[in-house]
Amino acid sequence: MSDARGNGGSDATGGQHDVVIIGAGPGGYVAAIRAAQLGFDVGVVEREEALGGTCVRVGCIPSKALLESSFLYQQARSELSAHGIVADDVGLDLGAMQERRRTVVKQNTDGVAYLFRKHGITRYAGTGKLTGARQVSVTAASGEVTELVAEHVILATGSTVATLPGVELDGETVVSSTEALEFGEVPQRLVVIGAGVIGLELGSVWSRLGAKVTVLEYLDRILPGMDLETAREALKLLKRQGLEFQLGARVTGVKVSGKDGRRKATVEVEGAEPLEADKVLVAVGRKPNSVGLGLEEAGVSLDERGRVIVDAGFATNLPGVYAIGDLVAGPMLAHKASEDGVALVERLAGHAASVDYGLVPAVVYTEPEVASVGRTEEELKEAGVRYRKGSFPFSANGRARSLGMTDGKVKLLADEATDRILGVHIVGPRAGDLIAEAVAAMTFGASSEDLAATIHAHPTLSEALKEAALGALGRALHV
Ligand code: FAD
Ligand code: NAD
Repeated sequence: MSDARGNGGSDATGGQHDVVIIGAGPGGYVAAIRAAQLGFDVGVVEREEALGGTCVRVGCIPSKALLESSFLYQQARSELSAHGIVADDVGLDLGAMQERRRTVVKQNTDGVAYLFRKHGITRYAGTGKLTGARQVSVTAASGEVTELVAEHVILATGSTVATLPGVELDGETVVSSTEALEFGEVPQRLVVIGAGVIGLELGSVWSRLGAKVTVLEYLDRILPGMDLETAREALKLLKRQGLEFQLGARVTGVKVSGKDGRRKATVEVEGAEPLEADKVLVAVGRKPNSVGLGLEEAGVSLDERGRVIVDAGFATNLPGVYAIGDLVAGPMLAHKASEDGVALVERLAGHAASVDYGLVPAVVYTEPEVASVGRTEEELKEAGVRYRKGSFPFSANGRARSLGMTDGKVKLLADEATDRILGVHIVGPRAGDLIAEAVAAMTFGASSEDLAATIHAHPTLSEALKEAALGALGRALHV
């Protein structure tokens, strides 16, 4: 047991624990809480002052705070009149909006610190490094080194921004998502490289606040990996909101010119005219944080993309060393990282726990939202699976009409032979919340008949899901 046990949440001087976790993101901090609940003595090493990782500090939470604020601004400017609300003098105080974002982040990082104290989790402030099979060294900002020993070491160091050859992030004109969350003024022209999740969410934020946003995407579609028909619908709606897209556009370099405060970027695209921008957001994916962690020296195997290789029980090739979250293969999502963490520590406690990676929902928090679970139509076709499809448009849903949010639809795919639901793909209002019902149904192996027989309150957006299930059975009621 650690000398520092009982200091829960505060910096500690070192020692021995049952479990030592490097990284306090949604993978590491949730694993720590669950491990403490299971009776393990837990130490967590985190190099940032605030707990919560990418998601809480510079990812999920701040982006959603800005998405909400910018949505309300855009509603107040152009949508409220349809409700008979006169709001003639709508202005933007970006400073206040950014202050709110910081407050929301702090509420969440403080929340994690509170949970650490509550569960008696010992926090080590500094950079962690694996020094042996069950050994971790922690180097504090002061340079002081603390050695830790643990029965189980969990690597949960997450991921960091990736860039392209010829594109150097300078943190000011050519930026990653972290700086794009913190702009102090609305850029006149924002070029976004990558039409993935970050590009569309942060592109939406700055477009709503007044920037002219152009999204450059290498592929001939947006949101690779998501259902194609659903992604096409989202593209149509985002274009209508004023975002410009150049698909099939391969960025070959970005040049920055001009002096402080008057800098501009020129984005070079293969076979097309270069684009000028005040800011360029590079959103071409993220890479695992596996460098400098002592993994090579300790002999931990990595794959060709630098991810830690683990087996179905999250074990690396080094006994007693495990890895979870963005550091390993799989979708780079907060809830996936947390599920990894919970399943791993439950296994360490002797429970039979696992994660069904076929049922990890994905949500894009644009307006409308895009949400998906299970298999896409493309995947089913490729696998030769025969399926039935039911679709229901929000334009035929009473609640969507009263919200004034009738864009998009629900699509449900069910096995032709067994009727089991194989995939649900939604573009539409609050799709991110609606998808939870599909995930729950699929977790219990539901058929479209099961979903169709479930009573849904009226008038709710969720009725669109029931109607899509009825549609797959050929008996939708309202279309
Ligand atoms: P991380 O959250 O990256 O945490 C790793 C932690 O380890 C960090 O705190 C880091 O400081 C620490 N660390 C790293 N190396 C060391 C070391 N050597 N010593 C000590 N500490 C170390 N996902 C969603 O599901 N929903 C969303 O809405 C969403 N929005 C996002 C928006 C943006 C802009 C970004 C960038 C990401 C978003 N994500 C979202 C992805 C999500 O943030 C990640 O999937 C998630 O944070 C991964 O969790 P993790 O615990 O594996 O790693
Ligand atoms: P992404 O993988 O979602 O999208 C990157 C996009 O960049 C792809 O469409 C890709 O084709 C494109 N691209 C790659 N090279 C290019 C080039 N040379 N020129 C033009 N386009 C190019 O990555 P992201 O948007 O950076 O997000 C990173 C991770 O963070 C993702 O794994 C995502 O799951 C996670 N995230 C999730 C959420 C959410 O759940 N709502 C929000 C933000 C981020």
